[in-house]
Amino acid sequence: MAGTIVEGRNVAEDRTLTPDFCIIGSGAAGGVCALKLTEAGFNVLVLEEGPNIPREKGPAPGQERKMLNEREVEMYKVLYQEGASRLTKNGGVKVLQGRCLGGGTAVNWSACLPPRLETLDEWQKRGLPFTRQNLDPYLHEVVNYLPVVRNDKYNTSARKFMHGCDRHAIPHDNLPNNTNNCRECGSCGVGCPYDRKMSGFVKWLPDAVSLGATIYTDTKVDRLVGNGDRITEVQAHFIDGKTRPTQRKLIVKPVKGVVLAAGAIGTPAVLLRSKLDLDGRVGKYTHIHPVTITIGKYPEPTLPAYGVPDNMWTPQFAAGPTGYLIETGSFFPVLSASATLQHGDELHRIMRDYYPNGAISYAHHTTGFDDKEKYGTVELDQNGDPELDYKIPKANVKPMQESLVMMARIHLAAGATSVYIMRNPPLEVKQGDTFDAIRKINFVEPQRSTIFTVHVMGGCQMHKDEKRRCVNNDFTFRGKKNLWVLDGSIFPTALGANPQVTIYSLALWGSREICEQNQATFKLNHQGGELPWKGY
Ligand SMILES: Cc1cc2nc3c(=O)[nH]c(=O)nc-3n(C[C@H](O)[C@H](O)[C@H](O)COP(=O)(O)OP(=O)(O)OC[C@H]3O[C@@H](n4cnc5c(N)ncnc54)[C@H](O)[C@@H]3O)c2cc1C
Repeated sequence: MAGTIVEGRNVAEDRTLTPDFCIIGSGAAGGVCALKLTEAGFNVLVLEEGPNIPREKGPAPGQERKMLNEREVEMYKVLYQEGASRLTKNGGVKVLQGRCLGGGTAVNWSACLPPRLETLDEWQKRGLPFTRQNLDPYLHEVVNYLPVVRNDKYNTSARKFMHGCDRHAIPHDNLPNNTNNCRECGSCGVGCPYDRKMSGFVKWLPDAVSLGATIYTDTKVDRLVGNGDRITEVQAHFIDGKTRPTQRKLIVKPVKGVVLAAGAIGTPAVLLRSKLDLDGRVGKYTHIHPVTITIGKYPEPTLPAYGVPDNMWTPQFAAGPTGYLIETGSFFPVLSASATLQHGDELHRIMRDYYPNGAISYAHHTTGFDDKEKYGTVELDQNGDPELDYKIPKANVKPMQESLVMMARIHLAAGATSVYIMRNPPLEVKQGDTFDAIRKINFVEPQRSTIFTVHVMGGCQMHKDEKRRCVNNDFTFRGKKNLWVLDGSIFPTALGANPQVTIYSLALWGSREICEQNQATFKLNHQGGELPWKGY
């Protein structure tokens, strides 16, 4: 029998539920786990803090999700953690994370890369069991089920990038996406209203519901309550459309167990509120991919907000513990205006000059490989809400400067008349520039340059070291037999690749573990065929 989606904002009384499994978070890991545990015959309940995105026809032709209206100013505050204004504790990094049905998958830019080989090798040294060979069936499942495709509809940013790379003899390649017949509206970052991006709310979650899963949205988990080595209760409250508590509560008494899939900030936060902090280990070693951004200004109008946002990249600089992936994207005007670090006349000038004629490229930087560095820490503020204490690691500063130089060179070779670097005071470079000013940017001092991240990982890591391990190799949380952690928080380092495919694959592996530990059959249903990545 089909399950249902209950919107917590409309629940008028306190409730108690007794599913087999309670999954916390409906993002990349939560969606996968909901489907696989429901397929295995379990009674599954998913709790999601963010709102539902119901299937309801909208006014635009082909619009399947009326509430997704493609307006940045309205959608960020509905679909993102802290209305897309989440910052690290020192204000130095803007942290974008989804907070809605589908979590990050609802708002992400659809780029799909496999886990980097070098990273998996490093993880093996830290005792993790994953290799490209043993992940292969899970990668096939993800690629075939979503599907992940090589989408060769390129927007202006991608075309300019290819041209500039060719002039510098830098190899570039298609970056596969989880889009299906993409309309190229460029709205991935505010949720695809046309169901052409194969996000959690289009694929994993409705498939789980059709098999019997129940999802509660607008339902924020406060804490877990345990007895010995078992979690006995999940305590949550319902919230309204403005993220205020409605005063109604939900108690879940799971028969078999709890799966944490609240993301790399949300999962440590639930554990910390539950006082399951393993002598201070939870929340430590949290990683991001800091992102550096360039906008080239071209002589002709470029329609920079449109197109598949993220389907062109170069693997040229990706190797090493501080390597970086340069990718191209869509130039979202509101997000970009807020990232310029300017205001008043200067902001007006930059947007007037760069927006209509712009093309964007950015670099995700790998971090987390130095065993002696502490990296980020998730802590709770006085209200019990999470905060990420993070400073840009010194080892990343030079690669971050060099990535900006490289991206500027590529823009200029492609015909850009100037390139804007998001720094305060503003920095523009032109043909013939020595790039010295870029090489002096101080990324460690916060708020001098725009650094954002859309990839948060770690904080509840798998690790062979007793002093670091929070999660065992069978995905159980240490000391608890019926608590599993499946999301990006288990990564011991940053990944060095866009993480959704890896999180999906590890969540499939973790779901298999949960099924086996509970005497149920786990199946992969979408095997065969070629993977879309060539040589990476
Ligand atoms: C703007 C943007 C663009 C991105 N682009 C790409 C891309 O192109 N390619 C790629 O591979 N990756 C991309 N990512 C990253 C990718 O989407 C994430 O890495 C991935 O979704 C993380 O999966 P997760 O399961 O760890 O957590 P999430 O997907 O973040 O899911 C966690 C969920 O848990 C919920 N939650 C948190 N706390 C609680 C609580 N206490 N109670 C109930 N629910 C809770 C959250 O609301 C959220 O929905 C992007 C992310 C963003 C934000």
